[in-house]
Amino acid sequence: MIIKNSSYAISAVREEQYPTDNLPEIALSGRSNVGKSSLINTLLGRKNLARTSGQPGKTQTLNFYLVNDDFYLVDVPGYGYARVSQKKRQQFGEMIQDYLETRANLQGLIILIDGRHDPTKDDIAMYNYALYLNLPILVVCTKIDKIKKNQRNQVLSALSHKLDLKHDNVEVLTFSSVQKLHVKEVWQWIEQNL
Ligand code: GDP
Repeated sequence: MIIKNSSYAISAVREEQYPTDNLPEIALSGRSNVGKSSLINTLLGRKNLARTSGQPGKTQTLNFYLVNDDFYLVDVPGYGYARVSQKKRQQFGEMIQDYLETRANLQGLIILIDGRHDPTKDDIAMYNYALYLNLPILVVCTKIDKIKKNQRNQVLSALSHKLDLKHDNVEVLTFSSVQKLHVKEVWQWIEQNL
């Protein structure tokens, strides 16, 4: 994928606010601090388009990034952030569900999981929910630079122990924003699904 241009387009919390230009969308989801903003910035070759911050859970809206005037990457707010109220969590949940379950433009979902740790209960729930949605899924193990090279396969097999990854519509990649590892492969998956 050659990125000719990318820009922040809009933030939305409900359907009326979604873009209306009817372009395909790829959503990215993962718990707070998993490295989602970094991945978006890395994919787009931008330093600071998606906000990276030490403040997990800050992004509470669906953020749409327009790429090449052709499609959107949609940053879905991070789940599993303990420091917001139960009510807020429920509102997030409904916003995410409304989008993922009803958006006809949505072509695929990238689920980010921190490669340094076992998947959390929230990661597993999100993945199982994504299977139920029956969308093409890419599971990305982030921050893999933190794992020794000879242990990376173990990370993947531990992951497939916890998640039932053997589905026709599921692919898995390791990723590092720091080392720019597998950027091309993530783009290939996106292109295949647009
Ligand atoms: P988000 O909350 O999911 O958007 O996560 P961020 O992209 O803001 O990243 C959270 C933290 O993880 C930041 O301190 C990043 O610098 C760090 N981080 C993100 N990606 C990587 C990576 O590939 N490798 C390493 N070592 N750290 C990363």
